[in-house]
Amino acid sequence: MPTLTGSCYCRKIEYELRLNSIDDARTTLCHCQNCKKAFGTNYGLTAKVSKDAFHLTKGQPKEHAADNGSGVSIYRHFCDICGSFILEFGENAKQQFRYICVGSLDDPEALPPKGEFFCKSRASWMPEIPGESQCWMLGAVFN
Ligand SMILES: [Zn+2]
Ligand SMILES: [Zn+2]
Repeated sequence: MPTLTGSCYCRKIEYELRLNSIDDARTTLCHCQNCKKAFGTNYGLTAKVSKDAFHLTKGQPKEHAADNGSGVSIYRHFCDICGSFILEFGENAKQQFRYICVGSLDDPEALPPKGEFFCKSRASWMPEIPGESQCWMLGAVFN
């Protein structure tokens, strides 16, 4: 049963992902405008895990909730000291899933991407992710 650890930059917040299998996590890139803003870079990179797999082991993140422009509330959790973005989830997924910011894992290589969303909004200089990756033209990133 793999357990992955992660934290914010200053380590005031630490967490564990307790997975039955690495395949229980689904990492995707998202090129939507919302993710560009939230992540402060040209795409968002999150791993979808079940809510029960996420365990906060230290600290308490600050929550920001806002309508993402489609009438759905998106919740984002941050460290209120160093500002690191830890995870997000939409209103519809609230009871089931957490989307972990992959860069907050102590070993981000543990969860390579399986697909991409909103590829039309991919930065012009950025290549597609090779391998098994698929491009989904879905709007429902948080479901
Ligand atoms: Zn921090
Ligand atoms: Zn997005």
